[in-house]
Amino acid sequence: MNNKQKALSSIPSVDDLIKLHEIHEMSLRYPRSVVVDCIREFLGEYRKLILSSNDDDLEQIPSTQENLIRGVIAKVHKAMNSKLVNVINATGVVLHTNLGRAVLSDNIKESLWSIACRYSNLEFELETGIRGSRYSHVEDIICKLTGAEAAMVVNNNAAAVMLVLSTMAKGMEVVVSRGQLVEIGGSFRIPEVMSESGAVLKEIGATNKTHLFDYEKAVNEKTAALMKVHTSNYRILGFTKEVESEELVALGKKLNIPVIEDLGSGVLFDLQKFGLPYEPTVQSAVKAGMDVITFSGDKMLGGPQAGIIIGKKQYIDAMSKNPLTRALRIDKLTLAALEATLKLYLDEEAAIKEIPVLRMLTISMEELYAKADNLYNKLSTKLGDKCSLAVIDEFSEVGGGSMPMHRMPTRAISLITSELSIDRLEEALRGYHTPIVARINKDRLIIDVRTVFEDEFDIIAEALEEILCGNKLAGKLESGEIH
Ligand SMILES: *Cc1c(COP(=O)(O)O)cnc(C)c1O
Repeated sequence: MNNKQKALSSIPSVDDLIKLHEIHEMSLRYPRSVVVDCIREFLGEYRKLILSSNDDDLEQIPSTQENLIRGVIAKVHKAMNSKLVNVINATGVVLHTNLGRAVLSDNIKESLWSIACRYSNLEFELETGIRGSRYSHVEDIICKLTGAEAAMVVNNNAAAVMLVLSTMAKGMEVVVSRGQLVEIGGSFRIPEVMSESGAVLKEIGATNKTHLFDYEKAVNEKTAALMKVHTSNYRILGFTKEVESEELVALGKKLNIPVIEDLGSGVLFDLQKFGLPYEPTVQSAVKAGMDVITFSGDKMLGGPQAGIIIGKKQYIDAMSKNPLTRALRIDKLTLAALEATLKLYLDEEAAIKEIPVLRMLTISMEELYAKADNLYNKLSTKLGDKCSLAVIDEFSEVGGGSMPMHRMPTRAISLITSELSIDRLEEALRGYHTPIVARINKDRLIIDVRTVFEDEFDIIAEALEEILCGNKLAGKLESGEIH
């Protein structure tokens, strides 16, 4: 018998393994069928690893009973773990759509928790004892912060635009500038949302220029609204002309047609003093006299996924009666998170400090330097000569289709290693138990500290240590990477 045959014949059976104390314990804690499946899968991978190894590698394959038990247990945990997990965002993209967009403040945890786990007055008026409206809980604070007359909230901003158009313009025409026919990542396209809502898009102007007379000329007896869309994720530069909100509102008044604005990102503070570009605030759209305004809860506002609709009471009232509202309505967890986030906005200084999106966008260069040095020190202590590390100047992005041209100077860790290829390293970090998503620039791994929380530094250091310094075969077997 050669070594390979010997190794193969020493593989225990499923029955042998399930009788072992530690694995038996697992089968009491978790569904037995899951444990048995995991044992089978593990033994299959173990067999493949032996078959694909040469004699030298065979020596290194961890084969003690303890190793086998550890491998099976890791598999069971993996099978029973949540599939939706926390991820460390080392990309520097603050509103990373694939990573959950806005991160909520730690300070609102309690209010979310208690609403989630107990009954609440979601649709109940405590004073009168009669049925209430779920929107009433946030309407006052939204109106207070924005200056609007009335407000309601739906599932996201795409739903908000849909509801507004369906309520105000079903079967009628809505006039929009060609330069504002936005497509947002995913599949939100103004022309498509419009046709889904039953409104008819009346495109006007040219891609680069639209004048007030273009709007005026397009209006007829079928016109239900004039609409302005914030070109969140792109800019038209050069020879351009957009009609100012005030002019559009004046035209709407003159012709007795409501004017709608889709603001995209909802900014409640002017962030120019922190070096960010000008972005129209929600308040300025209200002041300009827009009849209805929509914006996202989880872009620059930094709250939960939601679509906020504000404006004149007659329109908001009509929307709350639209049957679509029921299909687009937000749930109590979102409401709790939104109310708590909006409350932080009552104090500008507190909001900037406590709302993670605002904090990450406004963090000072000094703080970024300190953060990067801190991570650098942790990494260089742990990783020694396994890689070469440097702290470098880089750029982060706002993301979420907001401020597309703006590159924010930041500090990042740059890592080069000869232990494995940079693609494999990036992949291994993504596969870590707390996945770490970093960027690659040529042959370097880039970790932008802007979007990494300080309490995640140790996890990054441990992950890199395990990947660059660990027993690779054991690691592979445990992470189920052998197929
Ligand atoms: C992002 C965006 C939307 C979609 O908002 P969601 O909250 O993602 O549904 C709609 N319109 C504009 C202009 C946007 O920027």
